Amino acid sequence: NGGAPLLDVAGLHAWYGKSHILHGLSLEVGAAETVALLGRNGAGKTTTMRALCGLLPSVRGSARFGGTELLGRPPHAIARSGLSLVPEHRGIFASLTVEENLRIAHRRSSRWSPEAAWAMFPALADRRRTPGGKLSGGEQQMLAIARALMLGPRLLLLDEPTEGLAPVIVERLVALLRNLKAGGLPMLLVEQNLDVCRAVADRHAILDEGRVIWAGDTAALAAAGGVVSRHLTLE
Ligand code: ATP
Repeated sequence: NGGAPLLDVAGLHAWYGKSHILHGLSLEVGAAETVALLGRNGAGKTTTMRALCGLLPSVRGSARFGGTELLGRPPHAIARSGLSLVPEHRGIFASLTVEENLRIAHRRSSRWSPEAAWAMFPALADRRRTPGGKLSGGEQQMLAIARALMLGPRLLLLDEPTEGLAPVIVERLVALLRNLKAGGLPMLLVEQNLDVCRAVADRHAILDEGRVIWAGDTAALAAAGGVVSRHLTLE
């Protein structure tokens, strides 16, 4: 598979019923790369993640992952091929304990185990017998990420991981994501917080109306103030 990107999305279209949401979106994530997706609300960031995970019935174009086409495959097959999603609303089991959440997600092929998670996520270790639903927002986000790691991802997709978290928790999350990155895990990250994008991602793609309208590395992002401010309206 030579120099081909790990994820190569080309001309991706997606619909919700009759609403045409993604209009030929193209995007690449390299084998050791972290890419951030930015753009205002409704630009299509979550739709992109869901389309890649096989969660949308109506898609067109191509999304090759490790050389294999994802579009048209069912979500469980896509997950098994190594694409793990940390969804926006975290999707953890509220009535299961932290430890149970990790154990049911864990696959033997994963290089992360529940035991290894305690070292990486000390806050979760202290809460291992606590039901997921009783965790704070920050702890739930950590659990959602830990659970995605149990699946053994080759690419981790994160949808707005810092949304609604206090600044001190965001800092902890950034440190964790930087650790994962240093460990060689590629990530595709939807993120509204520019500081988080700059701290974690190698490259950034700005979406507007279901297309990538700008892409560049962190230095280019710093130089692209006008585009960035036009396309990242704060609520
Ligand atoms: P946000 O930060 O608000 O999640 P986003 O960039 O992730 O923004 P999407 O959630 O991908 O945006 O939404 C893109 C468009 O698709 C919006 O116009 C939205 O109204 C529409 N949309 C999203 N989910 C659905 C749905 N389940 N049914 C119909 N339309 C939807």
